[in-house]
Amino acid sequence: MKCPTFVSLKEQIHMEVADNIAGISFEESENQVLIAQTVRSFAELEIYPHMMVWDESQEFPIELFKKLGKLGLMGVLVPVEYGGSGFGYPEYVTAIVELSKIDGSIGLSMAAHNSLCTNHILQFGNEEQKQKYLPRLATAEWIGAWGLTEPNTGSDAGNMRTVAVRDGDHYVLNGAKNFITHGKSGDVAVVIVRTGEVGDSYGMTAFIIEKGTPGFTSGKKENKLGMRASETAELIFTDCRLHKSQMLGSEGEGFIQAMKVLDGGRISIAALGLGIAQGAFEAALNYSKERHQFNKPISSFQGISFKLADMATKIEAARLLTFRAADMKSKGLDVNKESAMAKLYTSEVAVEVATEGVQIFGGYGYTKDYPAEKYYRDAKLCTIGEGTSEIQKLVISRAILK
Ligand SMILES: Cc1cc2nc3c(=O)[nH]c(=O)nc-3n(C[C@H](O)[C@H](O)[C@H](O)COP(=O)(O)OP(=O)(O)OC[C@H]3O[C@@H](n4cnc5c(N)ncnc54)[C@H](O)[C@@H]3O)c2cc1C
Repeated sequence: MKCPTFVSLKEQIHMEVADNIAGISFEESENQVLIAQTVRSFAELEIYPHMMVWDESQEFPIELFKKLGKLGLMGVLVPVEYGGSGFGYPEYVTAIVELSKIDGSIGLSMAAHNSLCTNHILQFGNEEQKQKYLPRLATAEWIGAWGLTEPNTGSDAGNMRTVAVRDGDHYVLNGAKNFITHGKSGDVAVVIVRTGEVGDSYGMTAFIIEKGTPGFTSGKKENKLGMRASETAELIFTDCRLHKSQMLGSEGEGFIQAMKVLDGGRISIAALGLGIAQGAFEAALNYSKERHQFNKPISSFQGISFKLADMATKIEAARLLTFRAADMKSKGLDVNKESAMAKLYTSEVAVEVATEGVQIFGGYGYTKDYPAEKYYRDAKLCTIGEGTSEIQKLVISRAILK
């Protein structure tokens, strides 16, 4: 795969600072600039040279995540006293955007670990659970997974059938979760299972479960269109006994907790889409200046330059929605509607921009010699994971009609 022309670190930071001076975007903090710089240097060295090999072989590069842990990127939102970096959502979004500009798979796995598994324990764990799990997750000594989806219940997650039946001080779990990020390699998972009646939003409970617990295994690993270096697999529970101390919060709170976790998680997927869109755009922009047809760079044709103008404008709007949601989340405000809007818009923009990216590369965009096709494949996940675009419209319409 040929190297896309990256704008140098110095130039990029300069451009971002210029944007802020123009008052276009939320002001970037010193921490965000530092994080972006660190992630870019790391990604160019540790991800870029290997990503097509991981993509072809569908390898989940677990050692890379250990290195991300050393950089503090596997516990971005975890307070320092639990071994994390103690940053807020704007810094977290910056890290995902920068990773996803290079490789969406790595951005997706980093996001699932941080904002689903780790964040669920951070938000709803008791002190003992936080002390035990957060330092291991924040340093990537342990990789985290989060299981809500089941084979027959994705968008309709509240209709789940995996059960936990109380037996003294224990719960006995039976059933399966599918499409779980780090379903095989995860050392610990937060799973939401049924403890009450079907149809009752207070009939589900969240548990922390460690790899190696008898009766807890992983199943099929999915062979995917994109995001191929991010592992997606099934979790299986067969008479799996969990002590009640593994419960997060109280019995019956699991679904409500999950919805709150997803409010933050959707900001991660918006960031993922933003990074993919930005990466696809930069690659197409550079290519359009280098590729000549009819003795001119193709960027000189209005048919191409207008595409670039549309792409840049949509990315800017997506960036504003995403950082607005991140900013609100950091201030402790309710982001149910705003995170859904950011996720919906940015995901769709990622798909549109990546599609136009392939078009600008022409036939070369259809080959694996250039990055356009990977952005195109990876982008589609953003409109599906953590709630499809249709489900985001449900969330937004409920919020504006209430
Ligand atoms: C790579 C990947 C990683 C994932 N990681 C995780 C993970 O770590 N943990 C986890 O729990 N899950 C994970 N998921 C699952 C993901 O969240 C679900 O795939 C998603 O929520 C959609 O569910 P579904 O696939 O069952 O589709 P379905 O719910 O069957 O939807 C099919 C179609 O019907 C539409 N639809 C459904 N209901 C409605 C409605 N009411 N109105 C309008 N349209 C509707 C949907 O929008 C979609 O277009 C992952 C999925 C993928 C692909």
